[in-house]
Amino acid sequence: MERCPNCRARYRGGSECHRCGMALSQLIEIEAQAERWERYAARQLLLGNTTAAADAARRCLDLQWRPLAVLLHDFSHTLKSHRRASSSDDGEG
Ligand SMILES: [Zn+2]
Repeated sequence: MERCPNCRARYRGGSECHRCGMALSQLIEIEAQAERWERYAARQLLLGNTTAAADAARRCLDLQWRPLAVLLHDFSHTLKSHRRASSSDDGEG
């Protein structure tokens, strides 16, 4: 979190905004969960598990918009559709 969602003060760490006192710990935890899903998505993509990668990236994006998660999500879907197309080329017939 870069700024307090309430007063836009720059976040300096801690569980409350230094300016307005808003409790931020739940937001920080959600952000941490989003980051974990993002890392999991990247790991699954490296392992070639495109479905799991796309699902993990989607879970990340449900929590927080993150540019890397958008890329991971779109790339996973692109790989999935390429695989589907190439596997149908190799299919019986
Ligand atoms: Zn604030």
